[in-house]
Amino acid sequence: MISKAFQGVHGRAYLFSDVVNVTLGPREDRQFITGLHTVADIQCTSCHTVLGWKYEVSFEESQKYKEGKFIVEKQQVMKEGAW
Ligand SMILES: [Zn+2]
Repeated sequence: MISKAFQGVHGRAYLFSDVVNVTLGPREDRQFITGLHTVADIQCTSCHTVLGWKYEVSFEESQKYKEGKFIVEKQQVMKEGAW
């Protein structure tokens, strides 16, 4: 776990450098408070719940550290209990 200071759609979210047992959805450009990013939703491989998303590309220099990392909502982490 890298940081707790993220906001997901349903509440607080965590930034992970790697997440297991997920499948990636199609890439799409999404506008965040921190700027435009290309992201892909991540789904649990067993129950297909959308757990969060992966930052594929960040267009803001200050947000580059997020590239290749995953945002997982706390609510979903607690449900899955796998991390
Ligand atoms: Zn699951």
